[in-house]
Amino acid sequence: MIRNPLTFLKGLQQYTEGMKDSTMAFAFVAERLCLDFTNTVDWHASEHASERLNTVADFLKWSEAAQVLEPQLRHRIAQHVQTHSDQAELALDRARALREVIYRIFSALSHNHPPGAADLEALTRARLEAAQHQHLQPDGTEVHWVWEEAINPNRLWWPVAVDAADLLTSDLRTRVGECADDRGCGWLFLDTSKSGRRRWCSMKDCGNRAKAQRHRATASTHREARR
Ligand SMILES: [Zn+2]
Repeated sequence: MIRNPLTFLKGLQQYTEGMKDSTMAFAFVAERLCLDFTNTVDWHASEHASERLNTVADFLKWSEAAQVLEPQLRHRIAQHVQTHSDQAELALDRARALREVIYRIFSALSHNHPPGAADLEALTRARLEAAQHQHLQPDGTEVHWVWEEAINPNRLWWPVAVDAADLLTSDLRTRVGECADDRGCGWLFLDTSKSGRRRWCSMKDCGNRAKAQRHRATASTHREARR
């Protein structure tokens, strides 16, 4: 049983790499479940945001990659949604709406702006709903939150809501950043570096591009200076 999806995400840097143009692949570079979920939109901070969660199948695929639930339960939910597509579509709509709430909250914080009251209210409601499906379970002298075995497509986003609320009320919220890419990448991340100066969603992606740009700018300055 997966007690805490976050521990399973650690070290799982990227499910598939360099797939920014694909709607079928998901990246895990944010170091935090709820932020990885906001990164299921590409160019989130631009006028041409691009959706990766287009279908219920995409959502199920993301939940598998993010390991937000046990494979057996995911399989049962996948079977269930085949005959309850309306319920599944509604769950996906709610997940995408929650994702935008989480994005706006942490994007604002990363730029030292207070989050909006309506967004905090929406996250409160989502977290309350999710928490109804958790209970405390002992493991020796330890006690963990565990999720009930709900055959419910909303189960795919519940852990995201709880994680977002936990992050928002922890000291780590000040370490949330938004990719500094000037094209509007908009991916969020938790800066776990010692220096606390992470700027890019990924060094392989936006970071690499910025480095190449700096390199070209320096080379052209040198050329100018030699004239
Ligand atoms: Zn980026």
